[in-house]
Amino acid sequence: MNQTPPPVDRVAASRAAVAARRARASIKARMASGAARPLDVLAASENPESAAASLRVTQFLRSIPHIGVTKTERILADLGIAPVKRLGGLGRNQRARLEEFLEGWERSSPQAPRVVVLAGPTAVGKGTVSRYIREHYPQVHISVSATTRAPRPGEVEGRDYYFLGEDEFDRLIAEDELLEYATVHNSYRYGTPRGPILEHLAQERPVLLEIDLQGARQVREHMPEARMVFLLPPSWDELVNRLIGRGTESPEEQDRRLATAKVELAAQDEFDARVVNDTVPRAAQEIVRLMGLDHDIND
Ligand code: 5GP
Repeated sequence: MNQTPPPVDRVAASRAAVAARRARASIKARMASGAARPLDVLAASENPESAAASLRVTQFLRSIPHIGVTKTERILADLGIAPVKRLGGLGRNQRARLEEFLEGWERSSPQAPRVVVLAGPTAVGKGTVSRYIREHYPQVHISVSATTRAPRPGEVEGRDYYFLGEDEFDRLIAEDELLEYATVHNSYRYGTPRGPILEHLAQERPVLLEIDLQGARQVREHMPEARMVFLLPPSWDELVNRLIGRGTESPEEQDRRLATAKVELAAQDEFDARVVNDTVPRAAQEIVRLMGLDHDIND
């Protein structure tokens, strides 16, 4: 019997293996830089299709800053997990023990990522959550974006946005003043001014960017140490209700935004952490905790 698969299958299989290896390498690099949180990687590995599921526990632990070979061996022995195990193959109790270990580790060595990018589908409430953070957590600097759209009632120049003409926006791009920029919902341009971010980072203040998915991808490229957070609606119906309830867009604009939201929701796996916007104060608190700031807060 001929057991060799046809050559074309072998090519496909090796291509898939290369892609899986790359995906694992990317998770390890993001954990090592502090961008990806080990607890989030562990949670993602519950999906058997995920790259995280195929990561060996040894590689996983070794990617955590300050955990080396010896510590890895000791931790695995303590937890009763064989070093050859993959995250996706952990038993329920093993997973629970690893999770408990990581929670303790995180508490004892808080690694504050200094730039957090908050993205998520349209109308999920990114603006509301970031306003809440601005009001309740003054130690966080919220980046003020430039935009070519007109102010909505109640919006203040320099606080909510810098409202610019097309020419002024072009000038910022030409002078390389924007960390990222994108045309959102096929209509207006939005961009993150680079200068204020660098100034706040120099003062050791954490910075939150509330931007769309295209912008988030650009930041990930230019600032790999940024932590990428995806804000989710409690459900799709809730997202539709919020968009229509806001009543600030025309029906055509609403349709366009919902179509964008569907595509955006599909990108959540690219992110380091997912936060459900069930209530604004809770979501805000979780995001601030991801910035390593919960120690300073009385809540
Ligand atoms: P709105 O017009 O409702 O304030 O915002 C529309 C969308 O633009 C939101 O999804 C918001 O996250 C996004 N946005 C706001 N500022 C920026 C920015 O500086 N860069 C990018 N790429 N998107 C932004």
